[in-house]
Amino acid sequence: MLLNRSHPGENASSIKGFQEVPRDFEPLPASLLSHAQKTLARAVSCSGSGTHGGQYVSLVLQPAPADSGIVFERSDLSRHNLIPALWNLVQVTPLCTQIVNAQGAEVRTIEHIMAALYASGIDNARIVLDGPEVPLMDGASAFFMNLIEEAGIRSVKAPRRFLKITRPIEVRRGDAFARLEPASTASFHITIAYPQHQVGEQSFAFDFGEQDFAEEVAGARTFGFEPDIEALRRKGLTLGCTMDNAILINAQGQVANPEGYRFPNELARHKLLDAIGDLSLAGAVVLGRFTGNRSGHALNDLSG
Ligand SMILES: [Zn+2]
Repeated sequence: MLLNRSHPGENASSIKGFQEVPRDFEPLPASLLSHAQKTLARAVSCSGSGTHGGQYVSLVLQPAPADSGIVFERSDLSRHNLIPALWNLVQVTPLCTQIVNAQGAEVRTIEHIMAALYASGIDNARIVLDGPEVPLMDGASAFFMNLIEEAGIRSVKAPRRFLKITRPIEVRRGDAFARLEPASTASFHITIAYPQHQVGEQSFAFDFGEQDFAEEVAGARTFGFEPDIEALRRKGLTLGCTMDNAILINAQGQVANPEGYRFPNELARHKLLDAIGDLSLAGAVVLGRFTGNRSGHALNDLSG
């Protein structure tokens, strides 16, 4: 494994176990630095179309016991239907993040709800779905943040897991790279460019210690390019996307949605949202700096 799993304070002689986190990280918000694991106070539900398959899926977000992590449950499958949200189960697809258990049960497009759970500080939850895909809802994480708020959050009696990055690691493919490096923060910096779609470079930096995920990231919507849509739909992809839940960019590189962009760099912000969702598959709070350059889901995984 490339990453060194550790618990804050475990190497400091004056600190026992999980009682303290390193001083360096104190600017981080309580949602990330809480010593106790958290889950939801009660179950909440929603339903909507899956991004790619377009099938209508019901989702129930339930509390879960300490140390169980985030686990997806496929209620439409009778056996082997649990899929833990962990990096080693990722099967990379270019357009979304998909996890598959040892028996082949899969769930895809998990990244938006995972980012919302991570930013809300939820360590343990059961996500019950009656289909293979998380519903797209608002095309971002804001809907799921509101759902988590509606459920409420409670602490459970177990120490939280932290993953402190102790040396730089990088995965590169041509111009694209994803890098994690030591830093006394939990921060993300994303740069994207789609010259083939007349969309120039955009970038966005987000630091959990200084900025508010709900305000700056959660509302940034997923996006697609009009010239690509027909070919994708012929392959059974993006069937659940409409201009109500996604940004459509036309052949001239302009936003086709009548309301326009929510942020001038909304595409970069959405890619940053995806990166947070993908990094959350570490199964711990990641303490360090993530940099992605044209990275996408394939490189965010950092295992390939
Ligand atoms: Zn996304």
